[in-house]
Amino acid sequence: MANNTRFLILLGPPMSGKGTQAARLSQLLGIPQISSGDLFRENIKNQTDLGREAKKYIEQGDLVPDQVTIGMVANRLQEKDCRSGALLDGFPRTLAQAEALDAILEDLGARLSAVISIDVPEDSLVERASGRRICRSCGQSYHLVFNPPREMDTCDQDGGELYQREDDKPETVRQRLAVYQTQTSPLIAYYKSRGILREVNGDQPIEVVGEVITRMVNEI
Ligand code: ADP
Ligand code: ADP
Repeated sequence: MANNTRFLILLGPPMSGKGTQAARLSQLLGIPQISSGDLFRENIKNQTDLGREAKKYIEQGDLVPDQVTIGMVANRLQEKDCRSGALLDGFPRTLAQAEALDAILEDLGARLSAVISIDVPEDSLVERASGRRICRSCGQSYHLVFNPPREMDTCDQDGGELYQREDDKPETVRQRLAVYQTQTSPLIAYYKSRGILREVNGDQPIEVVGEVITRMVNEI
């Protein structure tokens, strides 16, 4: 694989804006957004064995086991459209996944360009959860107040129906935030120690966060 590939991670707690910013960057850089959550939801919709396995964990707000998750993402990264790079949104979420990612990229002859860590205080995350709506067909996320669709309940991109994810209900969100603290937040120090972490204050309007991230990416 050529040296000018770009593999970037968007790291942050649930609701920090990973998906929103990954979709924006994907358009800007012309590389695919790979969201492990979207891949799981796709498998659940298609009633695959992987979907059935993942559903049990997702409903509880827990992480899907590493083995299942790593295999799914590894397969996706081997597809042709990832030859020039990819934006990883929601993966890795554990140290074991981070180590597996290094091995997957090495096999592809590539390496990580940067990890963008989006920081948002917990109060804002909880507020965002209640208003998030997702497109059933393309997975694009909206917010009733902060990023409303042009037409009620309809995706701007493809006209798909917008719905509220079952795991965005308050109780499950609390569990997901706790899981983030214990299992995922150690990745911040892990990538910082490797000198590839870039931190952005995600508690600003979507466009402002987007501009900061664009500047960061251009500096890499
Ligand atoms: P994640 O993928 O990290 O879970 P999303 O990108 O889906 O987060 O964003 C979570 C919710 O918050 C969505 O409803 C989205 O429209 C909204 N959102 C994203 N970024 C911001 C922001 N900077 N300010 C306010 N709301 C935001
Ligand atoms: P959010 O965008 O709010 O951060 P995601 O759509 O990324 O949520 O993930 C939804 C759920 O899918 C998670 O709560 C978890 O159960 C599962 N999941 C997604 N990515 C991973 C991962 N890398 N490892 C384990 N489980 C995951």
